[in-house]
Amino acid sequence: MMSTNTQDIAARLSNSGIFRTQGLIGGKWTDAYDGNTIKVQNPATGDVIVNVPCMGKRETSDAISSAYNAFSSWSKLTANERSRCLRKWYDLLIANKEELGQLITLEQGKPLKEAMGEVIYGASFIEFYAEEAKRVYGDIIPAPSADRRLFVLKQPVGVVGAITPWNFPLAMITRKVGPALACGCTVVIKPSEFTPLTALAAAELSLQAGIPPGVVNVVMGNAPDIGDTLLESPKVRKITFTGSTAVGKKLMAGSAATVKKVSLELGGNAPCIVFDDADLDVAVKGSLAAKFRNSGQTCVCANRIIVQQGIYEKFANAFANAVQNLKVGDGFTESVALGPLINEAAVQKVESFVQDAVSKGAKVMLGGKRHSLGMTFYEPTVISDANSEMLVSREEVFGPVAPLMRFKTEDEAIQIANDTNAGLAAYIFTTNVQRSWRVSEALEYGLVGVNEGLISTEVAPFGGFKQSGLGREGSKYGLDEYLEIKYVCLGNMDRA
Ligand code: NAP
Repeated sequence: MMSTNTQDIAARLSNSGIFRTQGLIGGKWTDAYDGNTIKVQNPATGDVIVNVPCMGKRETSDAISSAYNAFSSWSKLTANERSRCLRKWYDLLIANKEELGQLITLEQGKPLKEAMGEVIYGASFIEFYAEEAKRVYGDIIPAPSADRRLFVLKQPVGVVGAITPWNFPLAMITRKVGPALACGCTVVIKPSEFTPLTALAAAELSLQAGIPPGVVNVVMGNAPDIGDTLLESPKVRKITFTGSTAVGKKLMAGSAATVKKVSLELGGNAPCIVFDDADLDVAVKGSLAAKFRNSGQTCVCANRIIVQQGIYEKFANAFANAVQNLKVGDGFTESVALGPLINEAAVQKVESFVQDAVSKGAKVMLGGKRHSLGMTFYEPTVISDANSEMLVSREEVFGPVAPLMRFKTEDEAIQIANDTNAGLAAYIFTTNVQRSWRVSEALEYGLVGVNEGLISTEVAPFGGFKQSGLGREGSKYGLDEYLEIKYVCLGNMDRA
C-alpha cells in the first residue's frame, strides 16, 4: 500500500502538466518497445511512485537517430535563436519550481527546501548558457604570409550522450544540456533509474519552451545496454558523464573505439582542513554544510575532516553539538535537515565503513547506527580519531558520517589531503591569508573552498583533478567541452 503522503503528492503532481512517465524519443513520449517497466520509489517510504519504461538498445538507437537528424537544423539556428529557446526553458523551470522541487524530494528524498535550492541551481545553468550561447567567439590569426588569411571557427561537436546520477536529478542534467544546446549540439539523456521523473519533467518543459523535437531525448532502463549503444554509435560524438569513478572508467575505455570526446565528473574524497587559527564558528558552520548536504550524498561532500591538534577538542565538541541538532526525517516534513539515503545498499555501505573505522580504533562521538525511523534513514554521525588506514578516509562514504582526523603541521595536512586518487573538492578553514593561498595552491583539487562549505555556482568551473574526472562544467569553460575547433586557411589572397 502506498502511504497517503506519496499518493497525495504523486496525484497532485500528475495534474501539474510536468509529470511524465514515458521516455522521450524524437519529441514523442514512448514506452519500452517490449513493454517492460521499472519501478520508481520514494526512498523515504519505499512506496512505488510509478512505473517507467525499461528501455535498452533499440530505443537508444532511435533516440540517437532522432538527435542526429535534429542536429542538422538545430546547429544551423543562429545563436540568438538558440538563446531564446534556452531562456524560455529557464523561465518555465522557474515557473514550475514548486512542482519540480516536490518531484525531486519524492524520488530522491532530499528535504524540500534543499530540493527547491537544486531547482534554482539547476535552472541557473540554462539561464547562464542562454546568455553564453551568444558568446561563442572564433579567432582571426595574423597570417605568416601576405597572401593568406587564417581563421578559427568553433562548431558544435554533434550528438551528445549525457549519463547522469541520482543525487542531483535536475542539476546534473542542466549542467550538461545547457552548454550542449547553447553550442548547437543535440542530446540523448540517460538519467539514473532511481530518479527519472525529474529528468522527464525537465524534458517536457524543454518541449513547452519550443526546443524542437529530437533536440532533447531521454531514455532510461538498462544502463549497460543504453551505455553500450551510445558508446558504439559513430553518430554520438561526445559522452558526458557524472557518476562513480568505476563507471566513468568503463565509459572512457568504451569511447576509445569511436574516439569520442569525453567529459567525466566522478567521485571525490574531499578533505576539509581546520587550522588552529580558524574562526571556530565559521569552521563548524562551513564543515557542517560541506559534510551533511543531501545527507552526505554529494561528490563534493567533506569526506575527511582534518583538524589541527590545538583546536581539535574544541572543534570536535562544537561540531558534534551542531550535528546533534540536525533533524532527520521525510523530506516533506518541515524543519527536516537530513532525508533518507537513496537505498538499502547505500546504508549497508555506510554501516560497513563505520564498523571498519571502529575496528581500527576510531570512536563514535555521535550516531553510528541506523535511525529509529527505519527504512534507509541513518543517524548523523561523528567519528573521532579516524586515520588514513580506515575506509572512511580512503573512499567516499556517501552518507551522513563525519570522520575527524588530527594533524600537527601545515605540511602534514597537505600530505594527508593529497594522499588519495581523487581530486574534486577541498575545504580549508583559516584566518591567515598567506596560509589560505599557500594551501589552496598545494592542494591537488579542482575546487577549493576557503572558509566556505558551499561553493558550487553556475558561473565557476566545476571539475576534478586526478581520477575525479576530465573537463569542466559550468562557467565559460563549460562551453569548450561541446565545441570543435576548426582552422580555415584562405590562400591566394593576393590575386585580384
Ligand atoms: P553510478 O552508479 O556511476 O551511476 C551514474 C549513472 O551511470 C546512472 O545513470 C547509472 O544508471 C549509469 N550507469 C551505471 N552503469 C552504467 C554502464 N555500465 N553504462 C552506462 N551507464 C551506466 O553513480 P551513482 O551512484 O548514481 O552516483 C554517485 C556517484 O556520482 C558518486 O561517486 C559521486 O561522487 C558521483 N558524482 C560526481 C559528481 C561530480 O560532479 N564529480 C556529481 C555528482 C555525483 P542507473 O542508475 O540507471 O544504474
